[in-house]
Amino acid sequence: MPGQAIAKVRKPRVKVRKSPDSRLSRCGDDGGVKILLVEDEDSIAEPLVQGLRREGFDVDRAATGAAAIGASPADCVLLDLRLPDVDGYDVCRALRERSDVPIIMVSARGEEVDRVVGLELGADDYVTKPFGLRELVARIHAVTRRGGSPRRGRDSLRVGPLTVDLRGRRASLDGRELTLTAKEFDLLAALAAEPGAVVARQQLLERVWQTSWYGQTKTIDVHVGSLRRKLGDPRWIETVRGIGFRLHEP
Ligand code: CA
Repeated sequence: MPGQAIAKVRKPRVKVRKSPDSRLSRCGDDGGVKILLVEDEDSIAEPLVQGLRREGFDVDRAATGAAAIGASPADCVLLDLRLPDVDGYDVCRALRERSDVPIIMVSARGEEVDRVVGLELGADDYVTKPFGLRELVARIHAVTRRGGSPRRGRDSLRVGPLTVDLRGRRASLDGRELTLTAKEFDLLAALAAEPGAVVARQQLLERVWQTSWYGQTKTIDVHVGSLRRKLGDPRWIETVRGIGFRLHEP
């Protein structure tokens, strides 16, 4: 990004500095999970940066959409939807085009339609302001979980030409690796753990989204839709009306 300055703040407990040119501020350096916080409002961003640092995260802040798109890679992106320059949805699309970094959308807008649009664009989760730090941290841990597997003891799952590598969190079809978001991978792993069996929506909500909140059921449909596209054949995931989904070789 032209004119983008990066301010490094190395010492812990130092407040995030604000200057007209510092649209991207490196705020921590403890080698933990690196979070990119995209938030234009200092009153929200500053306490959040400090809270996340106390939780052991390494936090970069971008105050504009342009700075977010130009930022160095992170392990998780917290993306405010209302930004001064670029719409948060466009930032999500741009980030998703080049990486599968977990993205949590943060917004005051909580309507179902926005949530679905965000998830269709490849966001992994969604929180609505105001939210508690503890809830946010739990969601960050959920989307950045590495090596987690729905079935302990198994390293990989095979369904015909589909291989799901639970340790490496990778999936391939006919030897070709699929580019999946964290939630798409978890969903595929949950379905592939029981090929041919119907997995209920409620089970998927609990296993993949760690919630039993029924309002999120539309979220499953969005992720199933994108998984079907990535698998290249919608018959891979069959909808069992009123119950859930079944994965099998077409
Ligand atoms: Ca904002």
